[in-house]
Amino acid sequence: MTPFTYNGLPSRVIFGHGTLSRLAEEVASLGCHRVLVLSTPEQEGQARQVLEHLGERGAGIFAEARMHTPVEVTEKALPIIASLDIDGVVAIGGGSTIGLGKAIALRTDLPQVVIPTTYAGSEMTPILGETQNGLKATQRTLKVLPEVVVYDVDLTLGLPVGMSGTSGINAIAHAVEALYAQDRNPVISLMAEEGITALARSLPIIAGNPGDHDARSDALYGAWLCGACLGSVGMSLHHKLCHTLGGSFDLPHAETHTIVLPHAVAYNAEAAPEAMARIARALGNRDAAGGLYDLASAVGAPLALRDIGMQARDIDRATEIATRNPYWNPREIETDAIHRLLSDAHAGRRPT
Ligand code: NAD
Repeated sequence: MTPFTYNGLPSRVIFGHGTLSRLAEEVASLGCHRVLVLSTPEQEGQARQVLEHLGERGAGIFAEARMHTPVEVTEKALPIIASLDIDGVVAIGGGSTIGLGKAIALRTDLPQVVIPTTYAGSEMTPILGETQNGLKATQRTLKVLPEVVVYDVDLTLGLPVGMSGTSGINAIAHAVEALYAQDRNPVISLMAEEGITALARSLPIIAGNPGDHDARSDALYGAWLCGACLGSVGMSLHHKLCHTLGGSFDLPHAETHTIVLPHAVAYNAEAAPEAMARIARALGNRDAAGGLYDLASAVGAPLALRDIGMQARDIDRATEIATRNPYWNPREIETDAIHRLLSDAHAGRRPT
């Protein structure tokens, strides 16, 4: 066996239907007496539901989380936390709300309980990306890893069909890159293959019937596994391209991941044959890259960067930014080939 290093991350995970009912006891076991509930404005209704479950331990709601974790939002929350004498935060939502909880934890060391309602996976990672003055900076520190994650399948039933598909493929992207990571290890690779399998079989069912409890459960289980992959091993070309397109061209997070992934996988196919075999097996398709494209198509996701707002003239600049400080990647980063990759993704061509 190839030698490896494995770092386990300390987090407690509760998974099931109706697990929100266990929230108060989880908060109590962290020693918290007054917690602040975080959400986006769109999910304030769910935040209110959470507050009810918290009973006397719920001190209030801060429903101003926004995409890309702007520092000014965090700075608005901090005086509220001080004035209410808060000793913990509960974040309900996707990566945006979880990012706010992490940004607060970074500055205050307050414990976090997270209730994820998308498949993005931030809850399982010690990673925080924050935006200030139009620039997004990412850091990795155990200070931001949530102490407790409560996965309640029931809270994901209302995730709109379109977002369910793209968020699920965003999760798959973490597992795909974990399979060819430089620091991959057998445990994370098992989780990665299982995570892709669970999402690939459930997402098309959800696209046809978003209220299917079994498929929702399967998808959230897959998202957990894929999030753990993102939290444990390094990411490569695909994540670099998506950070570039999101950070410098303001393209939407989950859709960008969904469109770019088949092309990044095609780029790496020859350099990572074992990973490709595992991805293809998990997808139930002969070909990893083509299988990912077909999955995106089956869930009705956008397939072309031009359809989510990227201009053809931006391909040159995106290539330049993405190749300037590349992450480690199984295949060398070749500027011409990356330009072709982005052109194919822009046009929505199926990778061959
Ligand atoms: P999001 O959190 O921005 O959510 C998108 C919208 O959907 C929001 O309005 C949200 O309130 C709403 N929503 C979420 N769940 C819902 C539900 N069940 N029902 C109805 N509406 C719901 O989207 P996301 O894709 O989860 O997160 C993207 C952000 O997370 C990006 O900023 C990305 O960089 C970050 N992220 C960070 C990490 C990390 O490890 N640090 C990992 C993944 C994503």
